Amino acid sequence: MTKIITVNNTDATPSWQKELANAVKNPLQLLQLLDIAPESADLSDQARKSFPMLVPLPFVRKMKKGDINDPLLQQVLPIENEERIVDGFSLDPLGEHQNGIQGLLHKYKSRVLLILKTGCAINCRYCFRRHFPYQDNNLNKQQFVEVLNYLKLHPEVNEVILSGGDPLMSKDEFLQYIVTELDQLPQLKRLRIHTRLPVVIPQRITDELCQLLKNSRLKVIFVLHINHANEIDDAFSDAVKKLYQAGIQLLNQSVLLKGINDTSEALVALSESLSEVNILPYYLFLLDKVQGAQHFDLATEKAQLLMKQITAELPGYLVPKLSREIAGEKSKTLINSL
Ligand SMILES: *Cc1c(COP(=O)(O)O)cnc(C)c1O
Ligand code: SF4
Repeated sequence: MTKIITVNNTDATPSWQKELANAVKNPLQLLQLLDIAPESADLSDQARKSFPMLVPLPFVRKMKKGDINDPLLQQVLPIENEERIVDGFSLDPLGEHQNGIQGLLHKYKSRVLLILKTGCAINCRYCFRRHFPYQDNNLNKQQFVEVLNYLKLHPEVNEVILSGGDPLMSKDEFLQYIVTELDQLPQLKRLRIHTRLPVVIPQRITDELCQLLKNSRLKVIFVLHINHANEIDDAFSDAVKKLYQAGIQLLNQSVLLKGINDTSEALVALSESLSEVNILPYYLFLLDKVQGAQHFDLATEKAQLLMKQITAELPGYLVPKLSREIAGEKSKTLINSL
């Protein structure tokens, strides 16, 4: 017997938003899900107050059970080390708190960065945005019109980068509006999206999103943010396949993090796993010196040595560019090899 079921999805909350609402916010609950005794972690309430914990379940599922040193867990767990105040680590290492037009950063000649959403689906403990005052200061349509006017006065800009926070925290309808407007600026060649959401909640790659990006006249590039090979699982790889099939170019940027990906084995495995899902490594960043993240920091010489080791093992196209961001510079600063 066949039942006919009418599916009415029009006002249903998309599944990625449900995952977001169900994200784990309590460190004890996270440890319990992973069968880890609370005593094995130096949890800090103060660290959590200054920057809340936030980890959606699809990301938790990629963590190893029973391992407090799991490289994914270590990226999200608020611990006592964050409370140390160390010279040279500041609240705003990139000097981004000042601004002209709301949500717009025009530091490099040919491209602007647009802060579409200030929130993320995950809170990474090493993030330089952890002290930003603008929680939930999202770009609205009126502010976006000001951005469009700015772009018309700056024909040297040929690429718009949607960033945040995480720009894919925006709903598809809003993204559709943004892309439709940008499509009409003849000066633009490329649209770039800097996001960690597909890694954290793969369901965010909806068919609607793929379709709206495919329909754009602009060349669309995704720069994902993956730090460790374990972040690439089947759910993520299925989501990424949809982007690839929509003709989107896929790149990745990572942050070099002590205790997480600071061995040549980890970095080689990351590049190899990225390659399997059609993503090319782009940047490997030295940590931004932000207060609360000093325990992730690695000496530049150690980073250069790692680069030498992975360059000897990988094809050139799977070697990321070691770089750092220096406030006031006209581009990212590449770090020479030894
Ligand atoms: C990193 C960054 C960009 C992009 O730089 P690329 O080298 O093109 O990846 C653009 N604008 C700002 C403000 C940035 O921080
Ligand atoms: S997803 Fe990116 S911007 Fe958001 S907390 Fe993590 S590193 Fe920071």
